[in-house]
Amino acid sequence: MRIRFLGTHTAESKDTRLVCFVIDDVLAVEAGSLTSELTLSEQKRISAILLSHGHYDHIRAVPSLAFNNTDEDIKILAIPDTLNVLSSSLLNDVVYPNFAASTSYLGKRVLELCPLEPLRRIDVEGYSILPVPVRHPVPAVGFEIVSKDGRRVFYTGDTGPGLSEVWQKIHPDHLIAEMTFPNFMSHMAKDAGHLCPQTLAGELAEFKRIRGYLPDCTLVHVTPQFEEEIREEVERVAKEHKFPIAFASEGDVLVI
Ligand SMILES: [Zn+2]
Ligand SMILES: [Zn+2]
Repeated sequence: MRIRFLGTHTAESKDTRLVCFVIDDVLAVEAGSLTSELTLSEQKRISAILLSHGHYDHIRAVPSLAFNNTDEDIKILAIPDTLNVLSSSLLNDVVYPNFAASTSYLGKRVLELCPLEPLRRIDVEGYSILPVPVRHPVPAVGFEIVSKDGRRVFYTGDTGPGLSEVWQKIHPDHLIAEMTFPNFMSHMAKDAGHLCPQTLAGELAEFKRIRGYLPDCTLVHVTPQFEEEIREEVERVAKEHKFPIAFASEGDVLVI
C-alpha cells in the first residue's frame, strides 16, 4: 500500500495544504487538496473518495474534482450526515452544479454518493473499508483500510481524546492520526474534538494496553501557526514513551 500525502495541515497557504492523501493513486481519503496537488491526468485515476466528516477542510475539492473530470464516474463514500452536508452546502446548484444528479447541465451523473454504515465493512476498488465512529462536534468516522495483500492502515479523521472504543475495533499495521493543537490549547482541543501531543500520548498508551502492541504512527492535520511547538512537544512525548511517531509533510510517500 503506497500512501501519498497531498495535504497535511488544517489551514491552506502557499506552503501548507488541507488534509488529503491518496492510496495507490486510485483511492483518495479526504478532499482538502485533491485538485490543487494532482495533475489533471492524476485526477483522472481517482475512482473513489472516502470522507470522514463534513467540515470544509475535508470536503472542499469534491466539486472541483467532478468539474475537472466530467467523463468519469467517481464514488463518494461517507456516512449519510456527511453526504447531506456535501449535497446541501456545495453540490446544491448554487455554489456548484449538483454533479451527483443527472439533472445538472451535463445531463449525466459524475459523482455517485455511497452512504456508509458505521462498523459495516465494505469493499471499494479492491480495498476492504471499515468506518468507525469517532468523537467530533459533527458526526464523524475514522477508516480502517485493508489492501488486497492484507496491509492495514487506520486513519482517525478529526477526533479528540477518548479513543478506547475505537482501538477495540481495529488492529492496523500503521496509524494515521490527527494532531491539531499544541498542549497549551488542550482544553480547546478537547472541546473541539481534536488531539494535542499530551492527549495523543494517553491514547497511544491506551492502544498498547488494549491491543498489546503499538503500530507506527504518522501525524497529519497540523495547525501551521503552531507547527514548531507541536513538533517539539510530540518529539518529547515520543522520546519519553518510546512511541514510533512521525509527521507527514505535503508530498511525502509512505509505503506500508
Ligand atoms: Zn473537523
Ligand atoms: Zn479538519
